[in-house]
Amino acid sequence: MGTFQIDFGKRDPVIGIDLGTTNSLGAFYDLTGPKIIPGDDGLNLVPSIVSVRETGEVVAGNTARELLLTHPERTVYSVKRLMGRGLADIQEERKRFPFPVAEGSEQVLRLQLGDKRLTPPEVSAYVLVQLKKNAEAFLGEPVTKAVITVPAYFNDAQRQATKDAGRIAGLEVLRLVNEPTAAALAYGLDKRKEGIVAVYDLGGGTFDISILKLHDGIFEVLATNGDTHLGGDDIDNLLIEIALEDIQSEWSESLRGDKEGVQRLRRAVIAAKEKLSFVPEATIDLEYKGKKYQRMLDRSLFEKLVAPVVDRTLGPCRDCMKDAGLTAEQIDEVVLVGGSTRIPMVRSAVAALFRAQPHTDLNPDEVVALGAAVQAGILSGAIDDKLLLDVTPLSLGIETMGGVVSKLIHRNSTIPASATEAFTTAVDGQRNVLIHVVQGERELVKDCRSLARFDLKDIEPMPAGLARIEVRFLIDANGILNVTARDQRTGRETSVEVKPSYGLTDEQVERMILESYEHAEEDIEARQVREAQVEADNILRAVEKAKHNDAWYELSDAERAAADRAVNELLVVYHSVDHNLIREKIDALNEATRTLAERMMNTAVGAALKGTKI
Ligand code: ADP
Ligand code: MG
Repeated sequence: MGTFQIDFGKRDPVIGIDLGTTNSLGAFYDLTGPKIIPGDDGLNLVPSIVSVRETGEVVAGNTARELLLTHPERTVYSVKRLMGRGLADIQEERKRFPFPVAEGSEQVLRLQLGDKRLTPPEVSAYVLVQLKKNAEAFLGEPVTKAVITVPAYFNDAQRQATKDAGRIAGLEVLRLVNEPTAAALAYGLDKRKEGIVAVYDLGGGTFDISILKLHDGIFEVLATNGDTHLGGDDIDNLLIEIALEDIQSEWSESLRGDKEGVQRLRRAVIAAKEKLSFVPEATIDLEYKGKKYQRMLDRSLFEKLVAPVVDRTLGPCRDCMKDAGLTAEQIDEVVLVGGSTRIPMVRSAVAALFRAQPHTDLNPDEVVALGAAVQAGILSGAIDDKLLLDVTPLSLGIETMGGVVSKLIHRNSTIPASATEAFTTAVDGQRNVLIHVVQGERELVKDCRSLARFDLKDIEPMPAGLARIEVRFLIDANGILNVTARDQRTGRETSVEVKPSYGLTDEQVERMILESYEHAEEDIEARQVREAQVEADNILRAVEKAKHNDAWYELSDAERAAADRAVNELLVVYHSVDHNLIREKIDALNEATRTLAERMMNTAVGAALKGTKI
């Protein structure tokens, strides 16, 4: 294995992706700014729909949208609602959407599409593959890296599932960006020194309102609110109801039970609705099984229909301001996101509520993808700008036995981030534990940057390995790291705060990452040796202690001699650079003291071999 090299000069293309509930879209940053990546069929938006043909071929996007008409049972949409969730979490969703949940989904949720059983990330991956193909056709080169957006309220499991979808699609997900943050980036609002931005996102089936605070180029999410079942679909359903009534009386037959008929009517209704955002009148036009239905809609009727839907978005907006501790006057900028904010009535309602003219220069169904492309441009180096500090550029961890680093938060984690891990003591009766917080990618403490040291004092004295010390890392949205160590038995805790990025330039960060690649191989070896030595220490100490125990004298002379011999052999190789050799002798000593250990199983000495020691 040679040395790893990263060439920061060569720019791999990185695309930005808005992986939406209804529609998805890719964008790319070129020399002049973010650009939407066109679809193969001239349509930009890729419907987030996946279908499995009878041949077993899986299709996504517009092709799948067609199959939703004719083969709804092998076609799935709105799968974003299922990301990172289990069967128990989706009972409400199942009442509203015809998700074809596969048998045996109690362990892992899967959808049955034809003869394929796919997890939600696998389904989403097909949408991503379509976007990847569009990007490759547009850019004329392979694309393997992406930034993907997620709703601000997505939890860890939902974020992880989104990353998994990327990986399955052959995309390295360099970063997940919150959708409202992306929208603000698309409008270049990060150029402001500071300010409060409200992002109002009314899409197909979901409504999200987020309030962001901008300071020093960082967006902090102050509050989010919304309704996971409110959007353009509700408007469509109201229009479909009207049309179904008409059809019943005009055709003197009902279309209600006819799945394909209703789907076609849905398409006709959506077309009319979307037109109405630009012109005062539009017609719902349906031709189905030789019959025709037409109905003119004008804006005043439409607005009467839509008013209750718009009203339902205002409550969450007010709650969101309240949660953020802000009044409408304190909101500096309002950004509109989501196709449904094209409706003029939505725009005026938002303007009235926030008493500010919302940004509308960009297409609301493209803003999030454009913002993702801005972030992608920064990451690929296409934008010569400082790193957006909404991720930790370097890993953070603590020192454990043997001078080895135990990483709690890995580099590139989006902030705010937190991690908790339990450690134990190395010495019997230990009263104090030194917590040494370090930063960097290397395996040994001596090669990392020391950020802070503090003592957790007066822990309850106990045999080595029995105390339980919980270490919690929390990075807030400002990049401040708070480390808390807590003795679980007494509840006593101590903490420190540090700013990990303090005093580090981008070049230093890059160098630290580069060095970790260059030293990867030797680091791993050094770490393995240190870990083997720590393990050797433990077992040697445990055996030493066992010699004061009755169990030792219950062994035969031969057994005791064998144990002593194994101890000596381990001591001989202890300083070897070959961790395999040390491990081999540890195993031999374990073997030689097996009877002893079994007899002492439930004692503290036996337990001393468990847990990572500080
Ligand atoms: P999501 O974020 O939920 O994936 P989008 O932001 O793409 O979805 O929004 C899709 C919704 O926007 C659909 O309900 C669609 O009918 C609606 N929409 C798109 N264009 C218009 C328009 N011109 N007027 C009204 N609604 C529109
Ligand atoms: Mg969206």
